[in-house]
Amino acid sequence: MLEQLELLLRLQEIDLTLSELESDEERLPDEMSELEEEKERARADVAEREQGLEEGRKRRQHLERDLEDQTVRLNDLKAKQLMIKTNEEYAALSHEITFADNEIASTEDAILELMEDLERQTSALAAAKEAAASETAEVERKVGELKAEFTRLIDALAVKRDERVRVAMHVDKVTLARYERILASKGDCAVVSVEGGACRGCYVTLPPQAIIEVKRSDRLIQCDGCGRILYWRLERDDG
Ligand SMILES: [Zn+2]
Repeated sequence: MLEQLELLLRLQEIDLTLSELESDEERLPDEMSELEEEKERARADVAEREQGLEEGRKRRQHLERDLEDQTVRLNDLKAKQLMIKTNEEYAALSHEITFADNEIASTEDAILELMEDLERQTSALAAAKEAAASETAEVERKVGELKAEFTRLIDALAVKRDERVRVAMHVDKVTLARYERILASKGDCAVVSVEGGACRGCYVTLPPQAIIEVKRSDRLIQCDGCGRILYWRLERDDG
């Protein structure tokens, strides 16, 4: 095979590896920040529950104070009732007492309901804290692994880039430019084999003359369909 073609195939293999490594290089930081976001969500959930609980406790204190005031008022009304002279006054006061009684009953109900609610919130908070703690530990473990992977990746990229430079310097400038132009426009590969008499890149059937020239391999042949550089795989006898 033409030496230049062999070099291009090696270059292409390196470029393929490089593009995989580069996509990992982009992906890993995203994965890490997604993990950090998970951790942050768990933390925010705990904070929100803590705040809800704190507000509930304040509301309970408020209700307890209301209850005290209402009880004082009721006792005042009852004391007044003992000193009443007329039936009209007595009736009016009875009405006020009934109202105060109802008020106390509904405050007590509200306190009870709130206490049950606070109990539920307290156990939910404990569960959320536990979940956040294990989430945090898990995220930190994964982030640690990703960081190590990223470091290995950066090293591997440096090695491959260096290897590419060393291979590329043996390819003549015009051929290298052609290869890079094709690779950039196709996105996947620039050098493809001939299989079943067709270009492996675009699957267009090649004219017999082109196949003969590819087999002969004394100059670079490009596919008429897609422009990729063609090569003949010696181990295959089709085409
Ligand atoms: Zn083609």
